[in-house]
Amino acid sequence: LGGSISRAIQQMSNATIIDEKVLNECLNEITRALLQADVQFKLVREMQTNIKKIVNLDDLAAGHNKRRIIQQAIFNELCKILDPGKPSFTPKKGKPSVIMFVGLQGSGKTTTCTKYAYYHQKKGWKPALVCADTFRAGAFDQLKQNATKAKIPFYGSYTESDPVRIAVEGVETFKKENCDLIIVDTSGRHKQEAALFEEMRQVSEATNPDLVIFVMDSSIGQAAFDQAQAFKQSVSVGAVIVTKMDGHAKGGGALSAVAATKSPVIFIGTGEHMDEFEVFDVKPFVSRLLGMGDWSGFMDKIHEVVPMDQQPELLQKLSEGNFTLRIMYEQFQNILKMGPIGQVFSMLPGFSSELMPKGREKESQAKIKRYMTMMDSMTNEELDSSNPKLMNDSRIMRIARGSGRQVREVMEMLEEYKRLAKIWSKMKGLKIPKKGEMSAL
Ligand code: GDP
Ligand code: MG
Repeated sequence: LGGSISRAIQQMSNATIIDEKVLNECLNEITRALLQADVQFKLVREMQTNIKKIVNLDDLAAGHNKRRIIQQAIFNELCKILDPGKPSFTPKKGKPSVIMFVGLQGSGKTTTCTKYAYYHQKKGWKPALVCADTFRAGAFDQLKQNATKAKIPFYGSYTESDPVRIAVEGVETFKKENCDLIIVDTSGRHKQEAALFEEMRQVSEATNPDLVIFVMDSSIGQAAFDQAQAFKQSVSVGAVIVTKMDGHAKGGGALSAVAATKSPVIFIGTGEHMDEFEVFDVKPFVSRLLGMGDWSGFMDKIHEVVPMDQQPELLQKLSEGNFTLRIMYEQFQNILKMGPIGQVFSMLPGFSSELMPKGREKESQAKIKRYMTMMDSMTNEELDSSNPKLMNDSRIMRIARGSGRQVREVMEMLEEYKRLAKIWSKMKGLKIPKKGEMSAL
């Protein structure tokens, strides 16, 4: 998608005269690209109209940076769709909240329930899981297995066939046990059908959830809008989680789900494992959707962030898929040199929300410095390897001792490295732009 949009804009920029016709052609190209990314037709049309209103032909003709203007307009429009204007219900630690998960079978509800519980457990919550899926054989076993692995209390039954009853019993049980996040997993069907929606309505009525989360498989494409809307009509969906973002899905369906439910996406699932779960951030997501975060935006920004003489080398290493600890160290150095961090660097994949939350620049800076102190105690071999297995316990202990930090902190730093390495591994096979091409209009 990023490629086709940049191409469309490029073509327009090359035109000697920018008139209505050229702009329309460009917008049509962009429309096609967005449709291919599974953004709902109606939304694309609306966007096209809005962009035309915003992008001023005179500005374009006057030779302002055309690519920037249009790209920015598309970016803003997509962000607007993803931001329903009000945040979802946020549970409070220590106060019992009931969170009900809904979605079609196979969308990833059970997996996501556990991820959601695990995510909060790590932050000091007391979550619990209730299996109200009595439709699918093996549903309780699956939840039980997940919950046991994550050491999260669970409730369910092999014999009871009434989902409402189990849901109510589970919620009551965990309220008594002072759990503050009671998560109700529900059943799905392969198709949207009346029985499913009636069941969801009943479970919701009986358990009175504080939040209903609609779980959607990112690969369902154009079906996203109708599916989300159908659930919204039977239960009051308050948030969306999009799963399987690690696959080939383009993610445009997320926009449709937000538009249909008027609720924000709060997390995305990026793999089958418990910790492959990310807080959703509108801007990086749109960048990714437009191919900006990973590619063109990255290329523009790397220009501003990484000193000129280091760029070819860094890009070369990334294109080989080698994101070493030394590269991370050098990037940290660059961030610190830049002063007010977060602004430019937040455009670089992975360096945004988790590592450097907005408004917490001071702490982020301190964290980065701490990481760098620990890395100062590493050997060259360790810094230049992209094999995390190299970092065994005795090495970790040595680094902790050498830098006067805790083993736990070294492990945290290595986790951060792994997270970034995973994101940056997408740069593998990157086409390295020739000099001058990088900032070309
Ligand atoms: P449910 O029927 O809605 O409860 O869906 P499940 O939680 O059972 O998930 C269905 C399948 O999708 C399982 O094989 C999961 O491992 C897989 N799955 C769920 N979330 C993700 C994800 O974010 N990425 C990937 N790759 N697989 C996922
Ligand atoms: Mg399930």
